[in-house]
Amino acid sequence: MTRSLLMETVLNQLLTAFQHFFGDTRQVMVARAPGRVNLIGDHTDYNDGFVLPMTLAQAVYMALRPRSDRNVRLYSLNFAEWATFSLDALPGKGTRWVHYIGGVVAELHRRCLLPSGFEGVVYGDVPLGSGLSSSAALEVATLVTLQNMFGFAMSGEEAARLCQHVEHTYVGVHCGIMDQFASRLGRAGHALFLDCRTLAYRHVPVQLTDWMFVIIDSQAPRALATSGYNERRAECEAGVAFFQSIDPSIRALRDVSPELLWAYPNHPSPLIWRRCRHVVEENRRVLEAVTDLEQGHLEDFGQCMNASHDSLRDLYEVSAFPLDLIVNVARSVEGVLGARLTGAGFGGCVVVLVHRDACSTLEACVRQAYEKHFGKQPAFYPLGHNITAEVLWRSASTDSDGCASAIP
Ligand code: ADP
Ligand code: MG
Repeated sequence: MTRSLLMETVLNQLLTAFQHFFGDTRQVMVARAPGRVNLIGDHTDYNDGFVLPMTLAQAVYMALRPRSDRNVRLYSLNFAEWATFSLDALPGKGTRWVHYIGGVVAELHRRCLLPSGFEGVVYGDVPLGSGLSSSAALEVATLVTLQNMFGFAMSGEEAARLCQHVEHTYVGVHCGIMDQFASRLGRAGHALFLDCRTLAYRHVPVQLTDWMFVIIDSQAPRALATSGYNERRAECEAGVAFFQSIDPSIRALRDVSPELLWAYPNHPSPLIWRRCRHVVEENRRVLEAVTDLEQGHLEDFGQCMNASHDSLRDLYEVSAFPLDLIVNVARSVEGVLGARLTGAGFGGCVVVLVHRDACSTLEACVRQAYEKHFGKQPAFYPLGHNITAEVLWRSASTDSDGCASAIP
């Protein structure tokens, strides 16, 4: 199915559902925001470093219309469940789907940007809880749809920050800024090179011709994810404290040069030093990888991916057996230039750069090895045409155009 046909199908399903639940589709606005995959640069975001995410073709979609009262009535097609609340009695804190939306609503309401309640349906094809940021896509989709429906101004940077704040404050997940930034500001046909300290960013064209990225979801339970993540953050802080005692201008591991790192091997302890080494070298790799991508040096880009995985496995110790198995099998397939875990680790996904002709061999080899070891199958998501957060449709009663438009 072509991309536009797929979009038409989702759009039709959303509008059919809307009509079913709310009677007609007058004044409806449909928008979507994509999930993301990080091509390289993991555990660098909270160290003020560099990342290179890319949006997916998968997204969270919202079809909404204003109400004449202050109520919010939403139906989730994924959960087959209603959520209703009022602007005067918001859902507050929690981890259910309504809390992500409720958090965005609360923040917009606090800024006096919502003139009334609203109603609609929510649907997403970003896999939930796999590390492809369905949560950020949900927050950004909520914001973008409400922004266009009610017509208030908000920059992409501010929107990303607002959505990150929602995830911290309303859901209790202390994520970096990358996910929301990528979903809101990522662009079709490009990766997004982001400096997590300054939030300066650049869209890097992804012209792969005969090559493609494939995401492989291990579907392994991420039991250690939260404790391991918090532990790594604390270890990085210990590293910063040590290097700061040598050079007081150092504020984050971003500021530690390879020369300084190697001047104090195994300080303040062998373990903390290994963690610091990963971050220092991973930042360098992102810069290299961006240049490789811009110059079309895909073999070198693949090498950076491989080095990144090895570092996450051996120095940062956030890989897991299912991820290493997928990476090793992928690398043994002819036509694979690079394979690495992506995201926080301890489970989640692997991203592979592979020749189009080798794609089916890659899938067959990984499936066979994975089934043999774990008795189940991973999921495959070839990264085709990635998308931009955008308005897809508005009913003729509010606007006659009805075409997709990217959010400026
Ligand atoms: P990830 O962001 O890696 O996919 P999270 O645990 O951070 O995983 O976010 C997943 C949660 O986000 C889901 O449990 C759900 O509450 C919410 N969510 C994501 N997509 C949707 C959707 N399409 N509809 C409703 N809620 C969604
Ligand atoms: Mg998430």
